[in-house]
Amino acid sequence: MSESTARKRGRFGPAPLALFLALVLGCTAPEVVTDSRPLGSLEDVLAMRDRSDVNVLFVLVDTLRADRLGAYGYSRDTSPTIDYLAETGVRFGNQVAQSSWTKCSMSSLWTGLYPARTGVLRSQDAISPDARMPAEIMLDAGFRTAAIWRNAWIAPNFGFSQGFEIYHSPRAISVSADQRAASPGKISGSDADLIRSASEFLRAHADDRWFLYLHLMDVHQYVYDDDSALFGTGYSDSYDNSIHWVDSLLGRLFEELEKRDLRKRTLIVFAADHGEAFGEHGGEGHARNVYGEVTTTPFILSFPFRLEPNIVVQSRSANVDLWPTVLDLVGLSELDDPDGQSLLPAIEASARGEKLAEDDRPTFAQLDRTWARLRLEPQPVIAVNSEKWRLVYQPDRPDHSELFDKEADSAEQRNISLEQPEVVAALVREIDAHLENPSPPWGTAAHIEIDEMQMQQLRAIGYGVQ
Ligand SMILES: [Zn+2]
Repeated sequence: MSESTARKRGRFGPAPLALFLALVLGCTAPEVVTDSRPLGSLEDVLAMRDRSDVNVLFVLVDTLRADRLGAYGYSRDTSPTIDYLAETGVRFGNQVAQSSWTKCSMSSLWTGLYPARTGVLRSQDAISPDARMPAEIMLDAGFRTAAIWRNAWIAPNFGFSQGFEIYHSPRAISVSADQRAASPGKISGSDADLIRSASEFLRAHADDRWFLYLHLMDVHQYVYDDDSALFGTGYSDSYDNSIHWVDSLLGRLFEELEKRDLRKRTLIVFAADHGEAFGEHGGEGHARNVYGEVTTTPFILSFPFRLEPNIVVQSRSANVDLWPTVLDLVGLSELDDPDGQSLLPAIEASARGEKLAEDDRPTFAQLDRTWARLRLEPQPVIAVNSEKWRLVYQPDRPDHSELFDKEADSAEQRNISLEQPEVVAALVREIDAHLENPSPPWGTAAHIEIDEMQMQQLRAIGYGVQ
């Protein structure tokens, strides 16, 4: 497979070769995994905070819903590389992203604050320059800090580059001019460009202690190459193909870590900012609501050693917990007054087969449904998740509440809000208390003007801002 064959297929693009391969091959062959890491234990997890040699590689796959990964039970073999991370590490089985739109969700992920507190809810909102971001904490602690990204919603002017010495959007060189011409309105290049830049970073900084953040976009863009066109040509099939393509790119990157003898001193953090809908509640795509299909995401930790057996945390967790957990693992100072919390106690409890008392805390996701239409008033929609229930609630239209019984109706298709008014009332009280949270320590969100160049970049990934 050549990177130059990487091609873009949007939801409307033909892919006859993909159909042929799917019929012939059915599924992928497992990759051969090189893994020189020693076998470790829970004690080694806890001892990482005392090590001074552990790098942090944060891989964020934009628009990746958890249930399309083998590790999360998917029937198609979309993700052998990611599955192996989970098999030899810690997998969080009930992770919730804080929004279904990149900028809002990533603001919460980085700050550990729910959207109600970041205030980054609409297209012109930005993280305050006064916020203390994980990259700043790591830079202060002596890490070399770098980000390689391809989504314009996390551009520096929205506040995401704070603490990064390098904040780099790679040049598009992996897709031919013909393919670009055939895919107008798409961002050029592919995640192969990003992985190439990451490999260059590893080569240049092999002897440093580093924090590297990679924000991949080919799953968002439904981009894949011929070798990954295994699962068909429909909209949803193309999404699976793109997961397989990204998984193979990550396999190359992890081989690079092995080649440079870095795997034994690198913590890999794998997550997503939101999922993707395929008609479960009437719509396709994301950034329109906060149902499970757009907010249930993967979270996997892969350590500088293998765990055997792997640990699966089944209690509820959220992306606001991600950085409190990672900073705790590597022994660095905490975020300022986060809503999220370190999941290290949950990891310990899961390893011992126990359940934590605080497993009962609810998790939240939020979206302003008019985030892109600045002339309209905000229209918030908020989901609260308990062990049994998900309530999707619109404060300005409370009679539109939707209550799902996650245990009896795992696809969350039957709205039983009228049958369970007391449950709805209790969950609305949870939401009301959640929205009363105080502002973040650095005050309200910043607001920026989006210039025409950035507007074009945002349109290229499918967002029109009015
Ligand atoms: Zn996104």
